[in-house]
Amino acid sequence: MKYFSTNKQSPVVDFREAAINGLAPDKGLYFPERIPVLEKKLVDGIEKLSNEEIAYRVIKPFIGDGIPDEKLYQIVSETIEFPMPLVEVNASIFALELFHGPTLAFKDIGARFMSRCLGYFLKDNTKKVTVLVATSGDTGGAVAHGFYDVEGIDVVILYPSGKVSPVQEKQLTTLGRNIHALEVDGTFDDCQQMVKQAFADPTLNKKLFLTSANSINIARWLPQQFYYFFAYKQWADKTQLPVVCVPSGNFGNICAGLLANKSGLPVDHFIAACNINDVVGDYLELGVLQPKPAQPTLSNAMDVGNPSNFVRILEIFQHQFSNLKDKLSSFCITDDETIQTIERVYKEHQYLLDPHGAVGFLSLERYLDNYPGKKGIFLETAHPVKFPDAVEQATGEEVPIPASLGTILNADKTSTKTKNEYPALRDYLLR
Ligand SMILES: *Cc1c(COP(=O)(O)O)cnc(C)c1O
Repeated sequence: MKYFSTNKQSPVVDFREAAINGLAPDKGLYFPERIPVLEKKLVDGIEKLSNEEIAYRVIKPFIGDGIPDEKLYQIVSETIEFPMPLVEVNASIFALELFHGPTLAFKDIGARFMSRCLGYFLKDNTKKVTVLVATSGDTGGAVAHGFYDVEGIDVVILYPSGKVSPVQEKQLTTLGRNIHALEVDGTFDDCQQMVKQAFADPTLNKKLFLTSANSINIARWLPQQFYYFFAYKQWADKTQLPVVCVPSGNFGNICAGLLANKSGLPVDHFIAACNINDVVGDYLELGVLQPKPAQPTLSNAMDVGNPSNFVRILEIFQHQFSNLKDKLSSFCITDDETIQTIERVYKEHQYLLDPHGAVGFLSLERYLDNYPGKKGIFLETAHPVKFPDAVEQATGEEVPIPASLGTILNADKTSTKTKNEYPALRDYLLR
């Protein structure tokens, strides 16, 4: 498989090079030259296949010969080694729980796959590789755990001091070894700006081999297809296809679902569930994407005003607006509605949503109101304990702490405090 850049100015590359580059040199996103067609056996006989087998068969056409079969099978097996259950919330709405991984959010899947691919590709590198990433919360933890102890790779994570939740901060700052947390006295935008400057600094890049673990990397994007297949495997009535609703920010996750659907996974319709940062909703009405500055909300992993994966959605639909509109709807949910939904779903169904899942649940419910008889799945993208303030405000109860978090909450935080200016990052990297 070859990948082209959506800006069309860079040469096509194979999976390995696209994964190492992250962004194409012309600043476009990599996209597969053709979308593989699934074997009919895989779809019709999905219930008989193990999750490992499904994931391997889904990803193999995208990798080609880039990774030996046995190694690839091992990588996908390690990527998905936690449960992703489909849980009934009410008669027509099911939650696909993607928060049972090590950092309690769906980003674990992409980060685990990417770290293992890069570890394999760079194993014979003589120069140490530094993965540089800015995070507003969930990405940093997932990347830290994904790359923890991967030989030959150092990870430097920039996060805005005081602006991530306590659980998120612990996930970034307590691992140690090859994982380094830079606590920036500034905002997430400052962190991102500093990372961008590092990649653009020729002197620095002569001394260090820098790469990014940004969510636009194909090695993070493509494995996100897996759990749409696992959802279908667990879907009881295959004669009535599910509506699939995805809490969306940068639109990488939903875009992976649309890709899976394009290659043959049966899905009735997709819904992008957004908070008030819903530029894609406007796009679906007006036909033009108008980026806006992000507004802070309770579902902060979706506070994105210019979704980077949007161009990939256009590629999947070959820029045919009407085809896209047939397959994708969008809803915009406010913070008040988010809190009310957490409260109501907890009371009526004893199901505890996190703020992102609440945006997903309510969007799906609204869509199904217009289509009685249909049923759907929303992706529960994070564990409620990652966002305790909002959840406790809604239910009046403390969020129970999952056993897997026990040790991390007591571990000591180690971070390096840093000014929100590029020279501080450069000096740190060259220390
Ligand atoms: C990152 C994230 C999202 C948004 O996913 P995108 O792929 O950026 O659309 C939604 N929910 C949670 C909990 C996240 O961490």
